[in-house]
Amino acid sequence: MRIAEVVFNLSLDKGFDYLIPAHLSAQLQVGNRVLAPFRTGTRSGYVIRLKNHSSVQKLKTIISLEDEKRQIPPALLTLAAWISDYYCCPRENAVWAMLPAVVRKGEMAHKQIFYLTLTPKAAAFDAQFEALSKKQQDVIRILHRVGALPLKELLGLVEAGERSINRLCAEGWLLKEKRVVERDPFRDTIIQPDQPKTLNQEQAHALDQIKLSLDRQDASTFLLHGVTASGKTEVYLQAIQHCLDLQREAIVLVPEISLTPQTCDRFRQRYGNRVSVLHSGLSDGERFDEWNRINDGRSQIAVGARSALFAPFRQLGLIVVDEEHENSYKQEDSPRYNARDVAVVRGKLEKATVLMGSATPSLETYHNCRTNRYKLLTLRERIADRPLPVVELVDMSQERVMTGQSSIFSRRLKDQINDRLHCGEQVMLFLNRRGFASQMLCSKCGYAATCTNCSVAYTYHRKEAQLLCHLCGAQMPAPQKCPGCNDPEIRYTGFGTEKIEAVTRALFPTALVARMDSDTMTSKDSYRKILDAFRSQRINILIGTQMIAKGLDFPNVTLVGLLQADQGLNLPDFRSGERTFQLITQVAGRAGRGEQPGLVVVQTYTPYHFALQAACKQDYVAFYEAEIPGREALDFPPFSRMIMVHFRGREESQVSETALAFAEKLQPLLKADVQAIGPLPAPLSKINTYFRYQLLLRGRDVRAMSAALRSLLPVYKHRKCDIYLDVDPRSLL
Ligand code: ADP
Ligand code: ZN
Repeated sequence: MRIAEVVFNLSLDKGFDYLIPAHLSAQLQVGNRVLAPFRTGTRSGYVIRLKNHSSVQKLKTIISLEDEKRQIPPALLTLAAWISDYYCCPRENAVWAMLPAVVRKGEMAHKQIFYLTLTPKAAAFDAQFEALSKKQQDVIRILHRVGALPLKELLGLVEAGERSINRLCAEGWLLKEKRVVERDPFRDTIIQPDQPKTLNQEQAHALDQIKLSLDRQDASTFLLHGVTASGKTEVYLQAIQHCLDLQREAIVLVPEISLTPQTCDRFRQRYGNRVSVLHSGLSDGERFDEWNRINDGRSQIAVGARSALFAPFRQLGLIVVDEEHENSYKQEDSPRYNARDVAVVRGKLEKATVLMGSATPSLETYHNCRTNRYKLLTLRERIADRPLPVVELVDMSQERVMTGQSSIFSRRLKDQINDRLHCGEQVMLFLNRRGFASQMLCSKCGYAATCTNCSVAYTYHRKEAQLLCHLCGAQMPAPQKCPGCNDPEIRYTGFGTEKIEAVTRALFPTALVARMDSDTMTSKDSYRKILDAFRSQRINILIGTQMIAKGLDFPNVTLVGLLQADQGLNLPDFRSGERTFQLITQVAGRAGRGEQPGLVVVQTYTPYHFALQAACKQDYVAFYEAEIPGREALDFPPFSRMIMVHFRGREESQVSETALAFAEKLQPLLKADVQAIGPLPAPLSKINTYFRYQLLLRGRDVRAMSAALRSLLPVYKHRKCDIYLDVDPRSLL
């Protein structure tokens, strides 16, 4: 091959052809990082294709091959091409996503520190040794005992200073050399090793199927559907063992890992330092070292969030996607990929088995099982026959009729909390809104405080006496009088976790109460502190947002309250029922994890909604059967595919005009079965001073829709309005 096509990180969605110089012709490969002349200077980029012909007349020549560490394995480069086509993003954005920034930039280095060891001369302990000072003799004795020590540690152990150690080196007693040390993200944690459990029948059956697929390398995709604590993680762990036995490697994707270190620990307990972790909680240095451990083949299991999918394994055997329904698998900026779906593609490319798991699978994934694209494995029972918690619905409109007032706590929930406090058991309360009140209203003139940057109401935070916008973070002091009419009668309506905390303290004055939301969790440390206090039962009632609905395991929690279950049901999004079902199931999963059975009290104004009814019985299949006909009738996913086109700009007229013109040009390019809805102002019509419009495309063939969009996008590049695409959007807001 004579010519290499190279992409640069410039969002041009374009490759550039270069001649390959003779000294590189034998070794240059796709995925190599090269330095090349670009415009008037030089730039470094990635080779994405090798070829013999170019349509360009005068080609420049590649200057050099860059650092070997920053190269992308060919299989990942192919994956990047797929991502770029499918998600309709510039090729270079996808290529750049394959490496962590800290590796890509090439500035980070391995950490090296000075180590001291003895020379043969020192080991002899002869007459010359006797002539040394006592301090110097001590240094040699200690090194004789332990072999090698970092300079810093040695200085801490002996009386001799750095000078006299340097003298010992100069006189040939000691050897001082730099050694690479790893930055260990777990240096402060102690892990108890654990052993594989004897599987129950359902687990064993599931594992057999997965093993068969690993043996055959048939790249099957499985969904492991099982309620919380049914033993899914144990199945992952044993599937990984089989994968390792076959000399292949495994990736485990988990959502928002930094909040649930327990998940990660489970894998380290079984596999120790064969595990690398990749997530946002690491320092740059730690991430660099963890990634290199994978790249050099020193670890065989990568556990991490979304981007761990791009772990540079060469012999990938298994990809586990835990909690596959989680929205955090979708990246919110370009490339807007869904790691769960891309996992299936990587599996196919590298003949790896994909194992998804969830208690509440997404409708898309379960539908894929029903249509035999994925294989369904089910765990029906909880481990050790522990019963599922009982879920009760409390009709809050009835409650108001009965008590003559609207209240935050129903009588049932209040009674139950008192009961639990009495027995020394713990309680968790959930509300997915932080702050004290969700709106400030003037009762006289009707003035409602809304953010000037966004199209939403300010939330009132009482402790700081601030009005805060939850979208853009803007804040202002809470006014004493109505800014509209100067009336002092200001009303606050709606409630958030801050108010729940205040009411809880008033209702249960003897209880120890703590609140966990992004207002109180200002550091990673405060999170751990509260969880530790809760675990050791120094807190009776823990109040929180969805932040604590996931993954936590506290055996003494026997009561969980969900204060407003229908909060999400009224959003203009076809997945609102699915989300509500997931939320209740997830929250219920926090109750009764120990010996005592759990109770979940769900407060709602719509107790007859089928999502709540099914959640109450904790019957996923019933929910699926009830939800799917509606999706089919209205042609929503999984029956259709969607692409959301977003338009965003500071001047509303510019945004709406661009959106209209774009939609008009697009129409003739679309196939007959594609439906274009809009352009319309987005439900969140303004965020952080940007006006937002949307055009929603719905059809069967995503690729045809993206191709049409892609042909049109460059035309609109430089207008005063950003246009970006979201393929398979998870949110329509
Ligand atoms: P899930 O991932 O479905 O929530 P886990 O795998 O975490 O479930 O299992 C729940 C608990 O039961 C864990 O403490 C786990 O160690 C234990 N467990 C899982 N499988 C078995 C088994 N076959 N025998 C005994 N204990 C098990
Ligand atoms: Zn705002």
